[in-house]
Amino acid sequence: MTDDVPPDFCPTTNGMPMLGLGTWQNEDPDACAESVRTALETGYRHVDTAQAYDNEESVGEGIASADVDREDVFLATKVWTSNLAYDDVLETARESLDRLGVDYVDLLYVHWPARTYDPEETLAAFSELYEEGLIENVGVSNFLPEQLEAAVDVCDAPIAANQVELHPLLQQPELREACANYDVDVVAYSPLARGAVFDRPELRDIAAKHGVSEAQVSLAWLREKGVTAIPKATGEEHIRDNWESLALELDRDDIDAIDAIEETSREVDPAFGPWN
Ligand code: NAP
Repeated sequence: MTDDVPPDFCPTTNGMPMLGLGTWQNEDPDACAESVRTALETGYRHVDTAQAYDNEESVGEGIASADVDREDVFLATKVWTSNLAYDDVLETARESLDRLGVDYVDLLYVHWPARTYDPEETLAAFSELYEEGLIENVGVSNFLPEQLEAAVDVCDAPIAANQVELHPLLQQPELREACANYDVDVVAYSPLARGAVFDRPELRDIAAKHGVSEAQVSLAWLREKGVTAIPKATGEEHIRDNWESLALELDRDDIDAIDAIEETSREVDPAFGPWN
C-alpha cells in the first residue's frame, strides 16, 4: 500500500529529517557505500555514522556517488569515548571530516558520556567546532536526563539532539520528556530493537491489519512520538521497506496497543553505559 514515497515526503524537526539511515556494523566498504547511495537515491536525506563504526570513508563515498547534492544530506557522526578531551575532540573531528570527504557535518555527537568525557572540556571543544562552522549542530548520545541538564548548562552552543536507544520495547517516556523540556530533539537508535520488535504479537497484528511490515509499524510509532529514527539497513529491500514507513499512519488503537507493552528490552548495554 505504501509504494513510491517521494524524496521530499520526509518530515523534519529543526532541519533534521525524521528518518535516517543507520550504518553501525555496515563495515564492508563496498556494501556500506552502496547502502548509503541506495538510501539517498531512494529519498533518505539523513545518514548516521560514528568514528567507532570504522566506515566514515565508505559513508563519504556513498554520499559522493549518489545523485544527490551533499548540501541536501543531513550527515551525522560521533566522537568516540577515547577522543573526548578538548584537543582530541578538535583533532579527531577534523579527521572525521577528512574521512567523510566533507567540509562540515550537520551534527556531531558525543557518542557516550563515558571515559574521557568531561562536560566542560568536551563541550567547549564542540562549541569551538560549532563557532568555526565545521559542525552545524552539537549533539549528545546515551545521556540520562541529569547528564543532559548538565550539558545544556555548560555548553555555549545549543544542544540539538540526544540519540538514545528507543523502540516499542524501550519507550523511555521520562527521557523523552526531559528532552522536550530542554528543546532537544530525540533520535532513536536501534529503532527496530535490532530485530526484537518483529516477534511482538502487538506489532504483528498491526502490521497485518495495515498490510505492512513490523519494521514499518515500529518506525511509524516513533514518528508519531515526534522521534527521529535511524534504522540500519544494508540491502535495497530493507532500505525501501523502512522508507515506506513514512506513508503509514497508525490509528489510536494501534498506538495505544504499542504504548501498553510493558516488557522492556535494552539491546545496547555496555558496562560504561551511564545507567549501569
Ligand atoms: P536497528 O536499526 O534496530 O536494526 C538493524 C537490523 O534490522 C539489521 O540486522 C537489519 O538488517 C535489520 N533490518 C533493517 N530494516 C529491516 C526491515 N525492514 N525488515 C527486516 N529487517 C530489517 O539496529 P541498530 O543498527 O543497532 O540501530 C540503528 C542505528 O543506530 C545504527 O546503525 C547506528 O547508526 C545507530 N546506533 C547508535 C548507537 C549509539 O550509541 N549512539 C548505538 C546503536 C546504534 P540488514 O542490515 O541486513 O538490512
